[in-house]
Amino acid sequence: TLVLGIETSCDETSAAVVENGAILRSNVISSQMEVHRRFGGVVPEVASRRHVERITEIIQQALNDAHVKQEDLSAIAVTQGPGLVGALLIGVAAAKAMAFAANLPLVGVHHIAGHIYAAHLMQPLQFPLVALVVSGGHTELVYMSDHNRFERLGRTRDDAAGEAYDKVARLLDLSYPGGPEIDRLSKEGKPIIDLPRAWLEPDSLDFSFSGLKSAVINLLHNAKQRGEVIHRADVAASFQESVVEVLTEKAVRAVRKQGVKHLVLAGGVSANSRLRQELLHRCQKENIHLTIPSMELCTDNAAMIAAAGTFRYLDGQTDGLDLNAKPDLSLI
Ligand code: ATP
Ligand code: MG
Ligand code: FE
Repeated sequence: TLVLGIETSCDETSAAVVENGAILRSNVISSQMEVHRRFGGVVPEVASRRHVERITEIIQQALNDAHVKQEDLSAIAVTQGPGLVGALLIGVAAAKAMAFAANLPLVGVHHIAGHIYAAHLMQPLQFPLVALVVSGGHTELVYMSDHNRFERLGRTRDDAAGEAYDKVARLLDLSYPGGPEIDRLSKEGKPIIDLPRAWLEPDSLDFSFSGLKSAVINLLHNAKQRGEVIHRADVAASFQESVVEVLTEKAVRAVRKQGVKHLVLAGGVSANSRLRQELLHRCQKENIHLTIPSMELCTDNAAMIAAAGTFRYLDGQTDGLDLNAKPDLSLI
């Protein structure tokens, strides 16, 4: 089974070819990061325009890199949502046009299902499993009993982890996207500042990061008022420590609660070096089998969409040419 994946939900224009949902044949990613950096965040209209400009050549390149012709494909998978509506529409329109022209089945994919299936490109997913999804717009614990079967165990009640990274980075005058910047700066500092951890109710698998963000705002504000010097690297390291501690602990709790052996890390924040290190360490200690996507597969890419789409396709979950972008598409 050869599936072409297309992803345009935010600021990456990407197309990929995946074989049997597991083997990466090509993965072309064109990031718009440089374009949005000077605005300090993604500008939706600019993102849509860039997707339009690049989508055709990116799809062509994905096919070329994989040495695959349109007629070799089994299906076309595309991110249907969630994401920026104008950005999603470009990928959906391109996928529909190609599916119609080549008479191929079309499969709409949930972006977060895609992030989870990035792990399948590393190692076959083993069910049942728990996935810790940490990205720019999501922070959730998801239970999967089998392919295509998702159940939500917990979610953020306010900011997503990646969103918190990006907002705190802004407070520290770091550039966009802030996650990698904080990751880098943390290595020059020590987590010596006491910042809150939002554990919520004793058995809750939900998350909250807005209190942590406020604590950083107050810390910086008070230091400025008192004329104290504050080491940004220490703030970054302390913030990161708080985030990573809560994510790791709740992921392990979810694994225990569900009585599973497998944990999957997914989403852009899984590129975080401290989170990878800490989770790996905890899972070794607890005898949990952990799969972490490679760096390229952590952030937005079409290979993960092709992988997730393959299993929907094999399950007969294809879509008609009336498929529409859904900015608030739900996973469950
Ligand atoms: P969603 O997947 O929820 O729709 P998104 O697609 O915008 O949101 P991703 O591309 O999956 O998000 O991830 C981007 C997020 O990951 C950003 O918030 C970014 O700061 C964060 N991120 C990337 N690398 C790192 C890192 N090394 N450490 C921490 N955060 C990181
Ligand atoms: Mg992005
Ligand atoms: Fe994403």
